[in-house]
Amino acid sequence: MRETLKSYNPANGDLVGELPIQSNQEIEQAITRARQAANHWRELLVEQRAELLIRASDQLLTQSAELGDLLSREMGKPLNAGIGEVRYCADGIREKVPEMVAAFQPRTIRDNNTCSTLVYQPFGVCAAISPWNYPLSMPQWLVLPALMAGNSVILKPSEETPLIAQRYVETLNAFLPNNVLQIVQGADEQGKTLVNGKVDLIAFTGSRQVGKQILASAAPGLKRVILELGGKDPLIVLDDADIEQAALCAVENGFENAGQMCVSTERVYVTPAVADAFERRVAELVAQIKFGCWNEAQVTMGPMINARQRNHVLQQIEQAIAQGARALTGGKDHPERFVIPTVLVNCNASMDIMRTETFGPVLAIQRVANEEEAVRLANDNPYGLGGAVFGEREHALAIARHLQTGMIGINKSCFGANGTPWVGAKQSGYGFHGSVEGHHQFAQVQVISESQTASTAS
Ligand code: NAD
Repeated sequence: MRETLKSYNPANGDLVGELPIQSNQEIEQAITRARQAANHWRELLVEQRAELLIRASDQLLTQSAELGDLLSREMGKPLNAGIGEVRYCADGIREKVPEMVAAFQPRTIRDNNTCSTLVYQPFGVCAAISPWNYPLSMPQWLVLPALMAGNSVILKPSEETPLIAQRYVETLNAFLPNNVLQIVQGADEQGKTLVNGKVDLIAFTGSRQVGKQILASAAPGLKRVILELGGKDPLIVLDDADIEQAALCAVENGFENAGQMCVSTERVYVTPAVADAFERRVAELVAQIKFGCWNEAQVTMGPMINARQRNHVLQQIEQAIAQGARALTGGKDHPERFVIPTVLVNCNASMDIMRTETFGPVLAIQRVANEEEAVRLANDNPYGLGGAVFGEREHALAIARHLQTGMIGINKSCFGANGTPWVGAKQSGYGFHGSVEGHHQFAQVQVISESQTASTAS
């Protein structure tokens, strides 16, 4: 009998739906179809590809209520956040596609003797592998630039959120030529088959551990790889920080999506003069978070995605408390499937919760002797995705320059202006998304040169 993938609502365990899992042979056949489809797709002008995708975005927007409901039931986030994510993706296509059209235009560079043109060629077949935490926007961050660059794409979404990814691909496919975008359902086994298959580019967003496996499997064929991996983002509160702003940011950024966000604030280093006031305010704000099922009124935080992830978070909390941390909120008596928003104080660098990615609704706070110690501890981690510094502007900027992260917020979260790259340092990956530089990763640059003559000089 054919194997299926069952998708459950993480808030109550109800079955949301079920889809067939592709066999290894079917995945190989999908790659063959993708290669054939790429031949035609690459011949279209980038403007023509843009037009088709923009039409698809209108359809996505029209279906946002229905798709948002499915997204929330499957992943657990509150309904308004689910609908918001669908709209964000629809708007994102309309906003990003013109930026990509510009990024993939040929560029001419001349010197006295030579006229060279840089053209952006597709690689061929792109395997896009995505996580579950933003189950529509994470696939889109990979699929959209890959398609716009002229690649055909096979998406392998997370096994936790297959249904919403299937609907996304079906929506786009109502406008795209056959087999330009395909989907393979399954878990790590199907992901491995795909990356080991005859694909030319692997675009991956997920954990550091799987990123390393993918890099290893890409090595024999030197396949191009784009990796967006995990984080353990620090937030530093300096003596001259606006405590209200720092506490608000720590709570908003630490508990968004139940902490299941790669740039979630997970570690806070606070200097002595402001520690009492900061911790008090954080606890007050966290006490206001209402957690519950996706469709309950006023709920702002959902459950953990699965039992494994919940156990990991609870274990880190229990260990930290056993080692001397104190819970200002939460910490115990967590209802089934949920983790109560937890603020831990009196944390120290030896605790796993200060070192390993948590990916849950926990803010771990450590008091440091001074800002030098805060910087040293913030950097003493393999990850380097985002970070934030709160303090008087010049002071905070000076501290930020010492942080080893790809993105840093000064008196705000690390999210940059529209059009800036989403970028990790160290083991948070070495690829990046958004911006002209990010889009170029999905294309092979080719330099075509001619001698300077009257005709090339024009
Ligand atoms: P994961 O690494 O467990 O899985 C990601 C995807 O890879 C899934 O589709 C999975 O089925 C597939 N996979 C697993 N093993 C594979 C293998 N050996 N070969 C090929 N594919 C394989 O991650 P997750 O639990 O889905 O997501 C959470 C992680 O993603 C966190 O670490 C988080 O920080 C990270 N993340 C990073 C970003 C970013 O932009 N940097 C964004 C979102 C999530």
